[in-house]
Amino acid sequence: MTANHRFHPTVLREYDIRGVIGKTLGPDDARAIGQGFGTLVVRAGGTRVAIGYDGRLSSPELEQACVEGLMSTGLEVIRIGLGPTPMLYFTVRHLELDAGLMITGSHNPPDYNGFKMMLGKGPVYGEQIQEIGRLVHGQDLVTGAGSFRKLDVSEDYINRLAADYDGTRDLTIVWDAGNGAVGHVLRRLTDKLPGKHILLFEEVDGTFPNHHPDPTVPENLEDLIHAVHTHKADIGIGFDGDGDRIGAVDEHGDIIWGDQLLAIYAADVLKSHPGATIIADVKSSQTLYDDIAKNGGKPLMWKTGHSLLKAKMAETGSPLAGEMSGHIFFADKYYGFDDAPYCGVRLAGLVSREGSLAKLKSVLPPVFNTPEVRFQVDEERKFKAVDEIVARAKALAGKGVEVNDIDGVRVKTEDGWWLLRASNTQDVLVARAEAFSEAGLERLKGSIRDQLSQSGIQAPEGF
Ligand SMILES: [Zn+2]
Repeated sequence: MTANHRFHPTVLREYDIRGVIGKTLGPDDARAIGQGFGTLVVRAGGTRVAIGYDGRLSSPELEQACVEGLMSTGLEVIRIGLGPTPMLYFTVRHLELDAGLMITGSHNPPDYNGFKMMLGKGPVYGEQIQEIGRLVHGQDLVTGAGSFRKLDVSEDYINRLAADYDGTRDLTIVWDAGNGAVGHVLRRLTDKLPGKHILLFEEVDGTFPNHHPDPTVPENLEDLIHAVHTHKADIGIGFDGDGDRIGAVDEHGDIIWGDQLLAIYAADVLKSHPGATIIADVKSSQTLYDDIAKNGGKPLMWKTGHSLLKAKMAETGSPLAGEMSGHIFFADKYYGFDDAPYCGVRLAGLVSREGSLAKLKSVLPPVFNTPEVRFQVDEERKFKAVDEIVARAKALAGKGVEVNDIDGVRVKTEDGWWLLRASNTQDVLVARAEAFSEAGLERLKGSIRDQLSQSGIQAPEGF
């Protein structure tokens, strides 16, 4: 690498490091990230770090360069090879290592790749990612004679996942790996579970030839839904490209969204953890928060972003957290990181014990809602506009209106609620509304339109 490596200005992001291969990200960056992150680890007193990579075509090359960077800081590097992101997190916790680094482009298009990191038990994000940039740009790097060894942890990982299966009746389950990294462990995992398992697209292929590995987008669930019908399955489970997000469909092929899934898990976890705090992000349905309270739990609304939720969870000692996007974190019997294969095992056990997934979902009252609508706004105006809207909304508080400004502005009225928040990673605002009636939803959308227009912003289509 050159003496003074510079990262492309777009790659050091809020929650991870990410770029486009050959354009904004390559092996020199990976080596520099190894040096910068390795320096953080060594200065925090660490000596051992694990590294893994997903199934993208560029991943092995980035891993090789990153290992060189990590070793140059004197660390002992444990290379676990190909697998989902949660297998890397598992390695760090299981072997009590000091840090971990995953090469993954998550659910992004095939030409993307990136890095997710953990230091100690927590995620590396925000200021710590900027610090890696400063260390590299300033050549403020630790040097030493490191080493590496390769280690296959997949069998220990799979055994740990299967150990928490608690079903009582055999099910038929369709699992869609979407050619993502979960495919590396999925067959061996389902072989350890009772019942019948149908696997779709389990071969790891970084070109994602069948569908894009993002289970929050309904069209990516079409194959899964079709297979659930064909096999008369009890559950369909999908994964994102690196296996830290889950998607699910019930026996009718209806999609169970992230917040509905969390409500179903929460009802179960609260039986063994009465009164526990359950955390969900600001995009989640009010019916989730209400259901947690109804089941004796303490619902806590927190900021969107998997790193932020993980940190809040550790702070409050919560046994379960999750977000709309399908990042779900179990700390009741597991480690508290987002492990979608683990979530799949827990869902299978739960449905086996409790009856059908559609029945479990039916306890949530029906609602009328918009999807999460993202629309471009001027980067300059993004946060200021949200501040203005918070101020105006607060002026209306009381009179049946509640305002939460933990992350953007979420306004609860007798009709339901609406949300406007600024993305931390893009020049977009996110809008969502949910009501108990169609007319109520129209009124909430009207409030969003009105607030945006008062701040000089054109409402997105559909609002
Ligand atoms: Zn992911």
